[in-house]
Amino acid sequence: MSRTVEPPADDPVADDWLTAVHEAAHAVERLVRGLPVGLIAICAPADAAAARGFCSSSANYVDTVAYLTGRGLEPPVAPPSALIEHLLVLLAGAIAESSARGVPYSPASTGGFEDRYQAEWLVGDVLRRAPYSAGVRGFLRAIEVVAAADVRTHWLWIEVVARELVTARRLTGDQIVALRRGPGASEA
Ligand SMILES: [Zn+2]
Repeated sequence: MSRTVEPPADDPVADDWLTAVHEAAHAVERLVRGLPVGLIAICAPADAAAARGFCSSSANYVDTVAYLTGRGLEPPVAPPSALIEHLLVLLAGAIAESSARGVPYSPASTGGFEDRYQAEWLVGDVLRRAPYSAGVRGFLRAIEVVAAADVRTHWLWIEVVARELVTARRLTGDQIVALRRGPGASEA
C-alpha cells in the first residue's frame, strides 16, 4: 500500500521493479497473516492520482482509509492484534524494497515514507505519544524485526509475485496465492 508513485524516474525499469517488490511484500505479508488481498497494481501516474497518489492493493487501501478516517480525535478502534498485523503489512513493503536495493532498511528510506508516516501516527495514537517520540520508535523497531523476518522467510514468493507484477501490471489476491513459493507452498 502506498508506495507513492513518483514522476518518471531516470530508470523506469528499475523503478518498476522496486515498486513491484514493495507491493508484492505488502500482499505477501497480508496473506501470511491470513488477511485477504484484493488487488495489487503498478499504476501509471494518472491512475495513481485518481487513487489519491497511492498505488496499492485495494484491500490494503481500504484498511488504511478506515484507520485514518476512524482516527479523528480518538485512537483507532482496533484490537491490538489487528493493529500489529496492519503495522507488519505497512512496514513489509519498504523492508523488501530495501532488500531489493541492497541497502539496510531505514525508517527514512525512500519508497516507504508514506507507510512509515502512517505507522507512526497509528502507534502514536495508541500509545498517546507524539508520532516522532522515542516510545513510538521503539515500538516500531519491534514490529520491524518481525516484518523483516517475514520478508526473509517469504522472499522467494515476494520475488515471483514482483516479477509477474512487472509484466502483468496488476494481480489479484487469488493470482498471488497461486504463485506461492517456499514455506507454505503446496508440493503439487
Ligand atoms: Zn507501501
